[in-house]
Amino acid sequence: TKFSDLQLDARVLQAVADAGYETPTPIQAQAIPSALEGRDVLGIAQTGTGKTASFTLPMITRLANGRARARMPRSLVLAPTRELAAQVAENFDTYTKHLKLTKALLIGGVSFKEQDLLIDRGVDVLIATPGRLLDHFERGKLLLTGVQIMVVDEADRMLDMGFIPDIERIFQLTPFTRQTLFFSATMAPEIERITNTFLSNPVRVEV
Ligand code: AMP
Repeated sequence: TKFSDLQLDARVLQAVADAGYETPTPIQAQAIPSALEGRDVLGIAQTGTGKTASFTLPMITRLANGRARARMPRSLVLAPTRELAAQVAENFDTYTKHLKLTKALLIGGVSFKEQDLLIDRGVDVLIATPGRLLDHFERGKLLLTGVQIMVVDEADRMLDMGFIPDIERIFQLTPFTRQTLFFSATMAPEIERITNTFLSNPVRVEV
């Protein structure tokens, strides 16, 4: 498979070429076509496999031509730690460089005021840690009813850190009709339960 066979937006393909990538990794080759079709994806993959691009590239292709309304993000990516959320945000910057998508990173240690301003302007891609996202939600500054695509990254670490109740709550705040892309390095029973509850007929990709 080549990236150009994957039906990605031409501007996304250009950014991938700029990054120097030549061939999709196995998780990318398997996950991207299903994600582009709008299917839910359950990806069982470790860091280093290229899993971040496997959800980022189809997401931004699907979001490329719309526009976000104030306080209603169009997509949501949850990561377990500030550092991981920041890394995901950097990946989005790399791959959206030829697109006009807006992005906000909601993590602890940054003032709410700054983050509120971004949310008010309308966000295509919201990247957050679960606790900080719920803090914003409870302050009444954010609606999750416009979320079309939701990603859970590193679910096994979310479990280790006690975030599963937060993740369930966040799932419940988003529309049933959303697309879900869910990644975990392992499938513990608790993770299996969450995926059975919140993913709809997912394509399972294991690398
Ligand atoms: P990840 O597993 O998402 O943390 O990605 C691991 C590393 O692989 C990152 O530094 C990416 O920039 C890089 N990478 C992702 N996809 C590709 C690809 N198709 N070809 C070469 N490098 C890649």
